[in-house]
Amino acid sequence: MNRFTMLQMPDAQRYWIRRARVPVCFLPGGPKTDLDRDGATLVDMLVDSERIAAIEPAGAPASNDLPAINLEARQVWPSLIDMHAHLDKGHIVARTENPDGSFASALQSTAEDRAKRWTADDIKRRMEFGLRCAYVHGVAAIRTHLDSPELDQAQRSWAVFRDTRAEWADRVLLQAVALAPIDAFRTPYGEELADLVAASDGVLGGVTRAASGVHGRLLDDIDPLLDTILRLALERGLDVDLHVDESGDPAAAALARVAAAVLRNRFKGRVVCGHCCSLAVQPEEQICRTLDLCAEAGIAVVTLPTVNLYLQDRCSGRTPRWRGVTPVHEMRQRGIPVAIAGDNCRDPFHAYGDHDMVDTFRQAVRILHLDHPLADAAAMAGPLPQAIIRAGPLGTIAKGGPARFILFNARTLNELICRPQSDRLVIDRGRQVSVELPDYSELDGI
Ligand SMILES: [Zn+2]
Repeated sequence: MNRFTMLQMPDAQRYWIRRARVPVCFLPGGPKTDLDRDGATLVDMLVDSERIAAIEPAGAPASNDLPAINLEARQVWPSLIDMHAHLDKGHIVARTENPDGSFASALQSTAEDRAKRWTADDIKRRMEFGLRCAYVHGVAAIRTHLDSPELDQAQRSWAVFRDTRAEWADRVLLQAVALAPIDAFRTPYGEELADLVAASDGVLGGVTRAASGVHGRLLDDIDPLLDTILRLALERGLDVDLHVDESGDPAAAALARVAAAVLRNRFKGRVVCGHCCSLAVQPEEQICRTLDLCAEAGIAVVTLPTVNLYLQDRCSGRTPRWRGVTPVHEMRQRGIPVAIAGDNCRDPFHAYGDHDMVDTFRQAVRILHLDHPLADAAAMAGPLPQAIIRAGPLGTIAKGGPARFILFNARTLNELICRPQSDRLVIDRGRQVSVELPDYSELDGI
């Protein structure tokens, strides 16, 4: 046992967390003095019951003799935000494998599993498992997409989601997005789905699929379909969150069409585009044009690096030649808000994962070159998704905000990224989360 694993949070309603090293990207309105090479600063934080009552530069003379824990300059982060997940698909990997790891097979295997196995009980059991993993890892908010290809399935999944959201409200803030092929908005079902989403306080979504399935040119009527989605959302006051260009084919170029549609419709809500992989394989001039349009339209982007790495450029017996990720740096240079998120977990779209945003961040740094310098990278897992999905004070450390933290043994971002941080302490409402990761055997027989 090292000194970190022996740390005990004070058993008091009011106590100090002293000498916590916090990257300032997590500290809106907090002290920003004496930054280290990682853009982090040392603070003392006063916890009062469930809230952060004060944040001060470390070393200020104690104004009282409250109990304290001294972190000796270890990293403290807020609980993080996973703004793009698929809790309804999660953990089916043992019963429904992807035979070749390809995107096309993922779609087919998942559709078969959904048609045969997705009872309310089944969805609930796997969703719960995923949420328990996320909570133990220090995730405070999740936006999940819910497969909604037709009304019967959609009603079932959304009912489970609404119950789960209520049951988890005090632990994980949950949002949901309706996920259907964009073709749904060519039929009356589009309107029925929008009504279901509005009644469930959800977000409208869709997949800008290609005309020939996974790869190739866009649907001929993509513009009117996008207009329909935005009109349905506008009429109901909904935000929109789309799966866009999850493909390595440069002909998949829906992102610019989405941006143009947002401008054309003067859409007032927030539009998020997930994936945008093929943008990276388009000509430089086209990338610039598309991103300028996205910036003008106020579009936010979520990148899913672990799943892109798994699915994109996969071809049996051939080594992948690219990482599958969207041009994140070019987006950030234009002021486009970009978040990182986990996406699929243990399903045909991604065989791995554990709903752990610290793991997603550590991998994202490597896949997307978010380092050198590292300073602002962590914002993409906390404050940026918080602002994009409007998750209140979660994902930041702020005076008056919830006392929800992840305490690491690591002192620097390098130390944090090098090890998996399995010994992290997760604090919720000022108290250490004492539950453990669920055992895989709990999923036996699903
Ligand atoms: Zn997704």
